[in-house]
Amino acid sequence: MKQKKFLLNENEIPTQWYNIQADMPNKPLPPLHPVTRQPLTWEDLAHIFPTECCKQELNTTDRWIDIPEEVLDKYKFYRSTPLVRAYELEKALGTPAHIYFKNESTNPLGSHKVNSALPQCYYAKQEGTTNVTTETGAGQWGAALSYAASVFGLEAAVYQVKISMQQKPYRSSIMRTFGATVEGSPSMSTRAGKDIITKNPMHMGSLGTAISEAVELAMTTPGCKYTLGSVLNHVALHQSIIGLEAEKQMEKAGEYPDMVIACFGGGSNFGGVAFPFMRHNILDGKKTEFIAAEPESCPKLTRGKFEYDFGDEAGLTPLLPMYTLGHDFRPANIHAGGLRYHGAGMIVSQLIKDGMMRGVDIPQLETFEAGILFARTEGIIPAPESSHAIAATIREALKCKETGEEKVILFNLSGHGLIDMTAYDQYINGDLVNYQVTDDDIAKNHIGV
Ligand SMILES: *Cc1c(COP(=O)(O)O)cnc(C)c1O
Repeated sequence: MKQKKFLLNENEIPTQWYNIQADMPNKPLPPLHPVTRQPLTWEDLAHIFPTECCKQELNTTDRWIDIPEEVLDKYKFYRSTPLVRAYELEKALGTPAHIYFKNESTNPLGSHKVNSALPQCYYAKQEGTTNVTTETGAGQWGAALSYAASVFGLEAAVYQVKISMQQKPYRSSIMRTFGATVEGSPSMSTRAGKDIITKNPMHMGSLGTAISEAVELAMTTPGCKYTLGSVLNHVALHQSIIGLEAEKQMEKAGEYPDMVIACFGGGSNFGGVAFPFMRHNILDGKKTEFIAAEPESCPKLTRGKFEYDFGDEAGLTPLLPMYTLGHDFRPANIHAGGLRYHGAGMIVSQLIKDGMMRGVDIPQLETFEAGILFARTEGIIPAPESSHAIAATIREALKCKETGEEKVILFNLSGHGLIDMTAYDQYINGDLVNYQVTDDDIAKNHIGV
């Protein structure tokens, strides 16, 4: 009988995270202080983030970083996650490719985000913080953070993008169930939110507005730290648990990936699954290809500019060197598939510049078509975000069908879609369309100051 699923024993779960910054041929350019324009120190960041996270953020020398015992204990609630061979999807496509997926949807929060929420809350608690705050788009990060905050005895305040709150009401219910306070962003509870509403009363929110509000709350509230679910280097570090497990599991399957594919919002699940394999390209001469799949309606990897830009709409965050569409870019409201952030993480931006990976943009309808094929073959309804990775995988598997190549493709299933059924309904009812951003749309946004 063919083995479908590969798991690790508890004692095989990795006990260290992998820090690709130590191995990068060209390190990311330094983030800059928004006012002085000088390279940031970890002390600058420690005003808003937990100290340990700030040190990890700027750590370009230590390849391995120990996972705290308390975090490992919580990881074991749901890790290892399965590595699965997608035989039925292969059959439906008629491809000779071997398709594997790492299933990060199996934890109760439903996405990979909890892998970083746990250490961020743990470090915050360690240094005496009482409250954490954050923004959330579709709500997976807010849900993961709310859970992790309750695990480590912290109060959580979450700003959720208004449009997503309407599209995905159950995610706010999950956050509240774990004891968090949830506000739609832009809200009237912060200066940044009020300013945005004054300028544009119909503003339906963006990750940029929600970040501005959460950062403001952290800066003005004693004992409150800000946390971020993507984009930053320490988040990708925590997510490396995905790829490190997958590496051991692929070994059990007796294969090594020719391609690693993940969807791309800010880069954390991509970095998580890809970087541990990329280290073998850098150190051992492997030739694995790495593909990050983004929506056609928010194409920072394929059509953005590499520039210093703010991480948020109000311009409160440090300036980050990244591929960006401009910090006031907002994807069209018709876009239902998540991955709405305007910029890419610093590490990934440098790796793209250095030709070590590439981005691909996927039209909305192709994304949902891929998600539905995956649901009908493998029995899992994927998060619309994850469906971008599935669509990119299908494209590559169909290329293999033409060439007859038996490539081994690994993709990350970053989450399940059971709370995104409104988007599936819209697709099935024929209410979704493709939306390609025009060059004018891109040109009218502001990059940097
Ligand atoms: C948040 C999220 C993403 C996008 O974020 P990345 O940091 O790019 O991984 C993708 N998939 C799911 C299920 C998510 O919750």
